[in-house]
Amino acid sequence: MSTPAAQQAFGAAEGADIAARASSLSKAYGSGETAVLALDAVDVAIARGRFTAVMGPSGSGKSTLMHCLAGLDSVSSGQVWLGETEITRLSERELTRLRRDHVGFVFQSFNLLPTLNAAENITLPMDIAGRKPDAAWLDRVIDTLRLRDRLGHRPAQLSGGQQQRVACARALASRPELIFADEPTGNLDSRSGLELLEFLREAVDQLGQTVVMVTHDPGAAAHADLVLFLADGRIVDEMPRPTAEAVLERMRVFSGASGDIPGSGSGSGRAARKN
Ligand code: ADP
Repeated sequence: MSTPAAQQAFGAAEGADIAARASSLSKAYGSGETAVLALDAVDVAIARGRFTAVMGPSGSGKSTLMHCLAGLDSVSSGQVWLGETEITRLSERELTRLRRDHVGFVFQSFNLLPTLNAAENITLPMDIAGRKPDAAWLDRVIDTLRLRDRLGHRPAQLSGGQQQRVACARALASRPELIFADEPTGNLDSRSGLELLEFLREAVDQLGQTVVMVTHDPGAAAHADLVLFLADGRIVDEMPRPTAEAVLERMRVFSGASGDIPGSGSGSGRAARKN
């Protein structure tokens, strides 16, 4: 498959090194009268080695975009590339393998196995895949996340912040092409949340990783290099070098237009958009 045309309106600048890309990406849930168009012909490019935040009102399509870019969800139309590979052409089996080897995930819930200690949790996906972690890389990840003295602890013996750092280390362990984080600070107190965001920043700055983070928190988005704003399944704006104040201001403009209240949590979505 040839490289896609570089005509993205949002995301990485033309000529930038691209970690993931979507072209005319649409995703509908259901069909007919009740169909919901969660993504509406999205064009976006995610720059490699950068930290990108995705913001927007509840129901605007943030999670769907993340899932489609990560190959966790099928698309209705359009194309998605992870690196040079067009993942929208892959079989389920090829996709599972690509995801396993090239994508790391950090979710709001830490999803650690309670019977395993931190070290075992960190390497579990690689153990399952029969891959040996690169010891030097793993050491760097563990030290960057300051988990060295917690490796023998089980999740129940760790604070929420420490558990999320273990989940981050697990996502980083295989040195993936891309790390997707979906509201990673959602279950953390503000201090642990701030620490986690600083670690994601370090993963980008010191370890050269690419991070895409979905968040509704302007303070969290301010840690990114670039914020993409979604509304009604479309990317409607972007902000390089964001500050919390500027992001909040931008969200206020959207909330005036859409009637939703940004930053109010992910619980109450606005009425689903009918197609
Ligand atoms: P966000 O992450 O911004 O809150 P989502 O991507 O979760 O938004 O949802 C976008 C739209 O798609 C919403 O209208 C939502 O109700 C709808 N949607 C998401 N997942 C499903 C699903 N599995 N089935 C039906 N509709 C869905």
